[in-house]
Amino acid sequence: MNFKIQNSKFKIIMIYIIGHKSPDLDSVVSAIIYAIYKNKLNDVEEYLPCVAGELNKETVYILNKFGISFPEVLKTAESKNIILVDHNEKSQAVDGIEKANIAEVIDHHKVVFECSNPIKFQVEPWGATCTIIADLFFKNNFELSNAEAGLLLSAILVDTVITKSPTCTEKDKEIIEKLSVIADIVDWKKFGMEIFKVRASVSELSEKDIIKSDFKDFVFKAGKFGIGQVETVDLADFENRKIELLKELKNKKEKENYHSVVLFITDIIKEGSLFLVSSDESVKITEIFQVKTDNKEEFFVSGIISRKKQVAPKFDEVFNK
Ligand code: MN
Ligand code: MN
Repeated sequence: MNFKIQNSKFKIIMIYIIGHKSPDLDSVVSAIIYAIYKNKLNDVEEYLPCVAGELNKETVYILNKFGISFPEVLKTAESKNIILVDHNEKSQAVDGIEKANIAEVIDHHKVVFECSNPIKFQVEPWGATCTIIADLFFKNNFELSNAEAGLLLSAILVDTVITKSPTCTEKDKEIIEKLSVIADIVDWKKFGMEIFKVRASVSELSEKDIIKSDFKDFVFKAGKFGIGQVETVDLADFENRKIELLKELKNKKEKENYHSVVLFITDIIKEGSLFLVSSDESVKITEIFQVKTDNKEEFFVSGIISRKKQVAPKFDEVFNK
């Protein structure tokens, strides 16, 4: 009889749970709460939430608000056991992922994943990875503390833009209602606006920081694309910084050999986005969104608020053939 395996004090296998680079609230909270879930189910392995980079503002705000300590930063995944949350594209993953043992994936993005052995792979077409994780707690009748429910609720509200995003599903709405009761946050719309105000305050951020706050790389046949998004409750905050932002996009494009670097600034009240573009083929980008404009570097598009559902797929269609 092997006592080591029987006794939960001797957890021998360490498994790191981690979201994508440029961590957002959904990827950080997913890692934290999924680690709690996995540790409830398993005695042999020890699950540790971690992050692939510096936390953004609203993540710091929310973790502090609910009194949850910050996860450790994992510098490399090399030769570690890893669970990917909130992403499955290796180009978006922590360094060293090619030499890691990926044990599991839980995500809500399009699937671009290959693995030589069968693994647990959970993808749902819902608005947030935290919706999938909250759903697992409810299905298993596991209790969520007030703070845990608050974290999950916050992440879902951000990822679904307070349910306004086209990525938001009935499932998300159902889970938001359940979580808001447990977290004792009845007016979740007001709470969502509070998070977006923190997220959107850019006055103290440099142009570089604004661009990288939620930035994702995509590799298409035409080349490497970088698409960043920021949300705001008032576009005017960005109007007087457009020239500097465009300059910085151009710098980034040239220094890091991008085909295109795009930043779109989403006004969640107006429900549309201002696009700032530095590209080898900016005309094609204006065509994607059917905007008639002489200025190919900046233009507003009504109704576009989701990178995952409305922006990235269109770029994929045009630049990946
Ligand atoms: Mn994310
Ligand atoms: Mn997400």
